[in-house]
Amino acid sequence: MSSIEYSSPSPDLQFVQSDLLAYIFSNPHNIPSDKVVYIDALSKEKITFGEVVRRTQCLAAGLRAVGVNDSDVVVIYSPNTVEYPIYCFGILGCRAVVAPFSPTLTIEELRTHALTTGAKYVIAHSSLLENAREAMPGTLVKKLIQADDAQQPSRGLLDVPTLAELAKGQVAQQLLHISPREVASRNAFLCLSSGTTGPSKVVQLSHQNVTTNMQQYMAIPTLEFSPSAIYVAFIPNYHIAGIIINVLLPVFGGALMVMMPHFELEKYLWLLQHHKATTISIIPPVALLLSRSPLAEKYDLGSLQRTFCTAAPLPKEVKADFDARMKKLYGKDILLLQGYGSTETSPLVAQVPYWRQDKSHTCGCSVPNMSMRLIDPLTGRDVPKNASARMPGEIWVRGPNVMSGSYRNADATEAAFENGWYKTGDLAVIDSDGYLTIMDRIKELIKYKGLQVVPSELENKILQHPNVQDATVVGVWKDAEATEVPAAFVVLQTGSGPVLETVGKVKAWFDREVANHQKLRGVVFAVEAIPKSASGKILRRQVKEMVQARARSK
Ligand code: AMP
Repeated sequence: MSSIEYSSPSPDLQFVQSDLLAYIFSNPHNIPSDKVVYIDALSKEKITFGEVVRRTQCLAAGLRAVGVNDSDVVVIYSPNTVEYPIYCFGILGCRAVVAPFSPTLTIEELRTHALTTGAKYVIAHSSLLENAREAMPGTLVKKLIQADDAQQPSRGLLDVPTLAELAKGQVAQQLLHISPREVASRNAFLCLSSGTTGPSKVVQLSHQNVTTNMQQYMAIPTLEFSPSAIYVAFIPNYHIAGIIINVLLPVFGGALMVMMPHFELEKYLWLLQHHKATTISIIPPVALLLSRSPLAEKYDLGSLQRTFCTAAPLPKEVKADFDARMKKLYGKDILLLQGYGSTETSPLVAQVPYWRQDKSHTCGCSVPNMSMRLIDPLTGRDVPKNASARMPGEIWVRGPNVMSGSYRNADATEAAFENGWYKTGDLAVIDSDGYLTIMDRIKELIKYKGLQVVPSELENKILQHPNVQDATVVGVWKDAEATEVPAAFVVLQTGSGPVLETVGKVKAWFDREVANHQKLRGVVFAVEAIPKSASGKILRRQVKEMVQARARSK
């Protein structure tokens, strides 16, 4: 049977021939150099377009002065700050590669990922310097650079302002570029993501992956990045979605970006009101708060025009409440439109354009230059349009925004692709106009409030507890917060003491050991044995059903 391919209703785009930095600074919209493009929500520091260019030149020159070379990997280990974009651009301006790491990584995780990426330099926020210092021994990291968030450089460390000082006088010639022949093959970013199974992998995204995805965002727009747009962002910059929509598109389009270090409801509402935000990118748990929290009614959100929700399924009841509340409070529609993507696709695959409100119940149609197939995971056959919701297919995609593979991991790359198609691990149906509805996920990944939680990494941690013999972690949906939460089955060692008490101790210990988003917020049960296949593979779907059944009967 021949394959069924779905493509975008929008015409194909001409690829950008220049590298990412040249594209960003080409300034096609003639943004004046005194236009403020980034504001820090905490420090209130403002950065204009002109300063972005100047500070990038200084940082790139400083980084080169201390040895950063072509293709070196430089980690940014920091929460969102107003300087974050400058670090990205400065690194790219050395023809080096940016590895944005989550500030929640533990020392052990930081060391593992520094080793896998072969990172040679780390720019760390001052609150994370000690972690970075401890993680460095045994890695290839040669230099730790303190981000410019602190008043004083820490003992014996180079900091970003000193680097910029080092570069004085050599600024003009210091932004290096990638030749058009290499923009599709040279990495711009190395990002962490779970893939379909097992521990996190390093996703390599080239200059062209990223410039194309920027073009794809803009071709069927949901968010808006023109000079009159005002955007308040909390999506983390260590995720490629944060890089594109917080860092790259605002400066490219000339919008104002207010950068929050992390989400905090009241602060967020205040910022939206104070800055008269016009456009925001959110995740379902935040859509839920905007729709139902009494606090959200105390602030004036009437300046909002377009709201973009991604990263996880948006329940239709939440969407209905959002629409009704905004209409009641402001007498107008504030668009709440969805998108779908993944780190491996730079990230955007599909979104609902702002002129297709009639499709707001879907995750949108394919962005230009992408082809998509839906493959029945049982039969391997293509699923046609308008298939029953009970017969979804796995989304397979092909296009210029798809990663070339996992960095230095040929097995993971091979597992991720089939005949050139990237297999997303997500199940969906598609309607007659080519709009997707995500139904389920067949990969192991759990997403807590938009953040990746990798089950095998949590399982390895639980197994370190002396009372645990075996364990498995799955995601279960929690309506009250519009998110999945990690839940676990554990097999206790014999003689571990009273079961309930021991399970409680294991959970309390585990939650102290891991980052906030990895805590076992779902149920934790003791079982006799974890359901496994004859080959020893955990039967996760079965575990999930058992956890759900147990949770219901509790
Ligand atoms: P990440 O790589 O962290 O962006 O996670 C990508 C995964 O998030 C996808 O493979 C999906 O499982 C999930 N995801 C992203 N967008 C949506 C959406 N609109 N609806 C449902 N799941 C989504």
